Amino acid sequence: MKILTLAALAVLLGMPAANARTADVTPLPARITMAEGDMIITPSTSLVIEAPAEDAARLRDYADAEWRRFAPAGKKSSTSVELKTVKRLEGIESPEGYRLNVTPRKALVEATSGAGLFYGLQTLMQLADGTDTIPALNISDSPRFGYRGMMLDISRNYRDKNFILKQIDALARLKINRLHLHLTDGAGWRLEIKKYPRLTEYAAWRPELTWKEWSDGGARYIDASDFGAYGGFLTQDDAREIVKYAADRYITVIPEIEMPSHSEELTAAFPEISCTHNPKGEPDVCVGNEKTFEILQNVLDEVMEIFPSEYIHIGGDEASKRAWKECELCQKRMADEGLKDVDELQSYLIHRIEQYLNSKGRSLIGWDEIMEGGLAPNATVMSWRGTEGGIRAARSGHQAVMTPGGYCYLDSYQDAPATQPVAISGYLPLERVYSYDPAPDSLGTDVTKWIAGVQGNLWTEHVPTAQHAEYMLWPRMIAIAEIGWTPQEQRRWESFRPRALKVSDDMRGKGYTVFDLRGEAGNRRQSTRTVDHLARGKKVTYNVPWWSNYNAAREATLTDGLRGGWSYGDGRWQGFLHRGDERVDVTIDLEKVTDITYVGADFMQITGPGVWFPAKVEILISDNGTDFTELATIEHKQKDSTGLSFKEFSWSGNARARYVRYRATSTEGCQFTDEIIIR
Ligand SMILES: [Zn+2]
Repeated sequence: MKILTLAALAVLLGMPAANARTADVTPLPARITMAEGDMIITPSTSLVIEAPAEDAARLRDYADAEWRRFAPAGKKSSTSVELKTVKRLEGIESPEGYRLNVTPRKALVEATSGAGLFYGLQTLMQLADGTDTIPALNISDSPRFGYRGMMLDISRNYRDKNFILKQIDALARLKINRLHLHLTDGAGWRLEIKKYPRLTEYAAWRPELTWKEWSDGGARYIDASDFGAYGGFLTQDDAREIVKYAADRYITVIPEIEMPSHSEELTAAFPEISCTHNPKGEPDVCVGNEKTFEILQNVLDEVMEIFPSEYIHIGGDEASKRAWKECELCQKRMADEGLKDVDELQSYLIHRIEQYLNSKGRSLIGWDEIMEGGLAPNATVMSWRGTEGGIRAARSGHQAVMTPGGYCYLDSYQDAPATQPVAISGYLPLERVYSYDPAPDSLGTDVTKWIAGVQGNLWTEHVPTAQHAEYMLWPRMIAIAEIGWTPQEQRRWESFRPRALKVSDDMRGKGYTVFDLRGEAGNRRQSTRTVDHLARGKKVTYNVPWWSNYNAAREATLTDGLRGGWSYGDGRWQGFLHRGDERVDVTIDLEKVTDITYVGADFMQITGPGVWFPAKVEILISDNGTDFTELATIEHKQKDSTGLSFKEFSWSGNARARYVRYRATSTEGCQFTDEIIIR
């Protein structure tokens, strides 16, 4: 007699199955077809692996440790989990792809590589979800991008080996395959280099606990043996353990050694390789000095010994290039090499380091500034200043990894700033991260074929503790994982959000600190609806131009009825940059003489990135657009502050006018405003 499962019975009776036939997998697989029945895993279920020995050992160890103990191979069992490498898989080109077929008797994963089997295993583990039941189904899956990464800055605030291993566990479950470690920066050198012990005996230690205190306190380094020395570094053994642990989870660790800038700690340890020989440390190394190349190449030799990654990240961002203009050695280098400016001097260093890495069989990757002065021939660009750098690199036939600040910088606020620990700037809730498409069809396949993938970056200036770092990473890295894996046409926020909640809950159960989406406060209230007022849709004349980096809606911005959110980069806030004291100076034409009772605008302040309230706002009116009379002057004593704040600069009263002029002046930073409201 045939015994019907509950689900089959439900189908016979024309009822929806009680146990809804869906597969709850994150990142969402490319194609899922549900089937009838379930596979029940029992203590006698066997695990059969047919793969090259190294992969087979990794997969078995992982399944044993992270899932369950299976029956010893060879023992007769009624059900089996089978992982098998095959020569090819019809319709799946990526070596990371896999096919999964689950029937009541057997769960079979097929892939052309160990990585593919590992991802199939991850999918199976999620389907089992801590129970013994896996729904019967067919999955055909492969990643959208070959590069799916996370960057962790362990220079600004040091994070140790155990923290990194714990994050690798989480990344592996989400099929992320690159961990980029920002090992060196002005705030501390974090990798043991045997040839240069001074880097970690001195340049890895400071008197203050947090980056903020260190930076405010004069950015000094001290000896590791000094009383109260705070900091740390990965020993080479630590780093090797991280590399192996990651490799066992099919994750490649990419080391970053910053050059030629963000190098204060390096030039403090070795003042002779900065242009000024300042013992306090200079941001840039001297490119004219051969000693610089000797040290960098010796460091890279040890780095390559530890990290088998094809990519070696050399930073390359935000060089000030100032000292190079005054330095005899740098000027001589430029003359000798026929370099016409300091951009080409930077490019000289990048080219030379690239040649060195290429000669050792490695590839150079760097932040998008490495294109300044001419991009090295085989370099891969990591696009962080928006997406243009990556797109430009892709157009010229270079690989690009997309990590634009507006979507991928996980040091931004993930919820209303008042509810969050102080962050560097910006507002990057999970939904906005998820909305990012690194390779939109509109770019054309000539460009998108060069886009290698996507990466989430956690800079840690304002992230002093391990818990805080996890809180910033999760759940936003879950969105990065799905952006990197799932076909764009399959991605839906409505489908993702509940799955992100589930992954978050699972992670909390495993001891991670995860931001709680259920308590999300959301964007600035004013930005969630349009505001109607007398100036809405009226023409605005800019007596001083806005800042072209923050165009927002250009001429329409200040009267479009749309208020800004928590982030000055959200396309609602318009930026106004230094021009002496002048910032905002606009005239609004109400088209006819009108009774007015209120004129006002909000400004934002977040002084970390240089956004300040104005020092003075003047509101003036006119009937002819030429002769203005003052309505109000509002003075504001500018002062530095932590976090993000907003302030309204307005006038209320009774007046009649056709033209309203709104001026803001400042001696500090730039200004951002979203709408000039007239009632
Ligand atoms: Zn120099």
